[in-house]
Amino acid sequence: MNKNVLLLILAALLLSSCSSVPITGRKQLSLISDAEVLSSSLTQYKGYMAQATVSGNKVQSEMVTRVGKALAVATETYLKNNGMESDIQNYAWEFSLVANTEVNAFCMPGGKIVVYEGLMKMVSSEDELAVVIGHEVAHAVAKHSNERMSQQILAQYGSNILNSALANKSAAVQSVAGQVFGLGAQYGVMLPFSRKQENEADYMGMVLMSMAGYNPDMALTFWQKMSAGGGASVPELLSTHPSDETRINNIKKNLPKIKQTYYKKSSSSSATFHIG
Ligand SMILES: [Zn+2]
Repeated sequence: MNKNVLLLILAALLLSSCSSVPITGRKQLSLISDAEVLSSSLTQYKGYMAQATVSGNKVQSEMVTRVGKALAVATETYLKNNGMESDIQNYAWEFSLVANTEVNAFCMPGGKIVVYEGLMKMVSSEDELAVVIGHEVAHAVAKHSNERMSQQILAQYGSNILNSALANKSAAVQSVAGQVFGLGAQYGVMLPFSRKQENEADYMGMVLMSMAGYNPDMALTFWQKMSAGGGASVPELLSTHPSDETRINNIKKNLPKIKQTYYKKSSSSSATFHIG
């Protein structure tokens, strides 16, 4: 095939393989369906949960579930009100606290969010917990894993996605999922998201926590507190979420507008919100 024709077809394919991120409207590459991402990532998630120890701390576990559900409800309400509910039709939210002393939290596609007990030591209110869970929910809703897998497929298979890889796409997806979720020996250790995705998750997380009634000011103070030090060792969360000046400045810059637009103090859910 003529090279120019091939490039044109590739361009057309990519154009038709874009989706929009809710809230920010950013266009992202999406070569894989939700169903494909979920079938590979759910296996990894189940493997992780099978070897993890669920926390015995009832109070903290309930707090994680309560804050997580409030954020999930706010997210679903927003998507529904904006005609985007089909975006998360395959999601089944799960919020787990696991017995692990590392200061960490992560999300897997489909709304599977895991918080480590070690993180709870750094959290002094439900608003602060909402900063972290809101950020993780944002990664899930923005489908950052799908985007990363799509970029990986494009990088590895290039124009071959037009023929061989597309014909045998599920093998390509499986192979890329293994790399993106970085699993095998170490469950739950994923390749870091890109800086762009991290900034977007910060932004969306602040919007979502505001809509759920949590004070978004805590995003700034929480990440500042995290980077100021959690003792001698650097918290694991910061290894995937470097709280450098650029990140903190972005949060500072976006905070006033987000707070003014989305935060209604009177609807504060942190103390009174209950979900069955
Ligand atoms: Zn993140």
